[in-house]
Amino acid sequence: MPQCVDIYMGPGYELYATPLPRGEIALSALARAEALHGRLDDQFRRWWNAQPHLAERLDGAKQVGGMLAISPVSGRARRRFLPGFVLLGDAAGFTDPITGGGMTQALLAAELLGQYVARNVRPANNWLATFDRERERLLRDYRRVTAFVMWLVQNPAFLLTALEVTRLLPRLFSHFLGFAGGTRRLCAVA
Ligand SMILES: Cc1cc2nc3c(=O)[nH]c(=O)nc-3n(C[C@H](O)[C@H](O)[C@H](O)COP(=O)(O)OP(=O)(O)OC[C@H]3O[C@@H](n4cnc5c(N)ncnc54)[C@H](O)[C@@H]3O)c2cc1C
Repeated sequence: MPQCVDIYMGPGYELYATPLPRGEIALSALARAEALHGRLDDQFRRWWNAQPHLAERLDGAKQVGGMLAISPVSGRARRRFLPGFVLLGDAAGFTDPITGGGMTQALLAAELLGQYVARNVRPANNWLATFDRERERLLRDYRRVTAFVMWLVQNPAFLLTALEVTRLLPRLFSHFLGFAGGTRRLCAVA
């Protein structure tokens, strides 16, 4: 089974092909509203047929599931905490998943919250704002890197240069993977 999620980019849309057991592929589409024309499933098909590598992978494939969900690509919560109540993970805000760090960010924030809870400071509600600010600092680099990658995607000449740089400097690429996976800070000095 392939180990990688492949991301295909087109004008106004991204396609994520995630390999599953038994040769199945989960295909997701993220798109700008302006890129949608006509029926959603027809549009989906047009997008994947416009990607030669993906079209070849799906040639002769049988669709075993329907289209499941529609969601905005990014979003923020107006309030992320209230006395006795904290939003975590995507509920607290999410970015375009292109850097593949959504689950890492959810787990890092949950771990941080766990540390505050373990300190058992009373009254508990007093530290919620401090926790939220620390979480914001923790996730800021992730949002910046995501915004930068999205900028690269919209500027293909720079994207090709960036891909060439990561090819020549595999340790740099590993560093970004480690950052997206939550095992490294973006800069050694935080
Ligand atoms: C196309 C795509 C590709 C992605 N790829 C990656 C990747 O490679 N790596 C990565 O780390 N992240 C990736 N992400 C992001 C990742 O999926 C999310 O960041 C992560 O799932 C957030 O977890 P969560 O528990 O906060 O929310 P969710 O996983 O959305 O879980 C929330 C759950 O609550 C349920 N729910 C909602 N409302 C109610 C209700 N009223 N009552 C009961 N249940 C409810 C939902 O059904 C859902 O099961 C990707 C996202 C997308 C869209």
